[in-house]
Amino acid sequence: MKAVAVYPGKPHSIHLREIEPPQLDSIPGGRGVLVKSLEIGVDATDREINEALYGNAPTGFDYLVLGHESFGIVEAVGPNVKDLQPGDYVSCTVRRPGGSIYDQIGRNDITSEETYYERGINLRHGFLTERWVDDCEFMVKVPKQLKHLGVLSEPASVCAKAIEQAYLAQQRLQVWKPEVAYVMGSGQIGLLSTMMLRLKGLEVYTVARSRKAGNKKAEIAEAYGATYVSTAETPLDQLVKQTGKPQLIVEATGSSQLAFQAMEVLSHNGALVWTSITGGQGTATVPSDKINLEWVLGNKLLVGSVNGNRRHFELGIQALAHGELAFPGITEKLLTTRVDGLENYAELIRRLVEDKEAIKVYLRVTSE
Ligand code: BGC
Ligand code: ZN
Repeated sequence: MKAVAVYPGKPHSIHLREIEPPQLDSIPGGRGVLVKSLEIGVDATDREINEALYGNAPTGFDYLVLGHESFGIVEAVGPNVKDLQPGDYVSCTVRRPGGSIYDQIGRNDITSEETYYERGINLRHGFLTERWVDDCEFMVKVPKQLKHLGVLSEPASVCAKAIEQAYLAQQRLQVWKPEVAYVMGSGQIGLLSTMMLRLKGLEVYTVARSRKAGNKKAEIAEAYGATYVSTAETPLDQLVKQTGKPQLIVEATGSSQLAFQAMEVLSHNGALVWTSITGGQGTATVPSDKINLEWVLGNKLLVGSVNGNRRHFELGIQALAHGELAFPGITEKLLTTRVDGLENYAELIRRLVEDKEAIKVYLRVTSE
């Protein structure tokens, strides 16, 4: 069957290849689920892998099948799979367990091991192929009524986890009721985080570089009831004068420099969540005395958040469903850029890299 792969470490090596089709009984214990790919999303991580900034092939392979944002339809299940059947829609989690205690309790998203196993990213083949198989433990059902947003399950899981991490960590304060939140970045993570924070009733400012006029991302953020702010029009320090310092910041710009800048505007007792993954070698100069002083005197918290496990997928899918009720028809506007057919992988990567207006670039592998 066809798959889209790269040679990790070799820039711009994306290509189409033939691989062996997956077998249901390759998964032990009768727990296998065989899925036909419907739509597979790509994001900045895929771009970085194709630029050889990130990612590794599985042991014994010189190539890595790409794709970690999965959505498909179940074709067959093993005898011990109870909660899924052929015809169900699913997304699949990305990480696979290592050996740490966190991995053993189902929290591979917070593995303490340096080596992590991620389908389509690191040491495990991904989903940008015709079919895939995995243990039912890693398959998450998407309600039929939500299948038009199924390809957003993985990014939604990342946002749901990031926000939950902030709230969990802030239990250190005994009482924390954030009112103003900044979301930095208006890509898929920024916009889905905007939606989730609006669903929690926060006053949300979605902050990004691009100007507001005619900007689809700004329209979506505002349709969620947030205020879109272009830093080209209103610099961050000026925004803070207008809104007061935010108690919560979700940083998702993809720029480490901006991630550090966000440290300068957080309120006392605030939480800043970093979600950007920056595979490059960039450096930045920061006002370290000022930040150090303010962070200590203000008891501020910085938390890094990566990945989403099964429970975060469930939370993300629930948020997508809640979002459909609260803001009907808005989330599908993220699905800007669809490319059809695995053989059109070059167009997929071109749109991902070049199309600055695109929010979600994804591949329709097949229609049902
Ligand atoms: C993926 C996560 C993954 C992370 C680190 C992100 O693009 O969405 O699932 O954990 O990259 O590799
Ligand atoms: Zn991703």
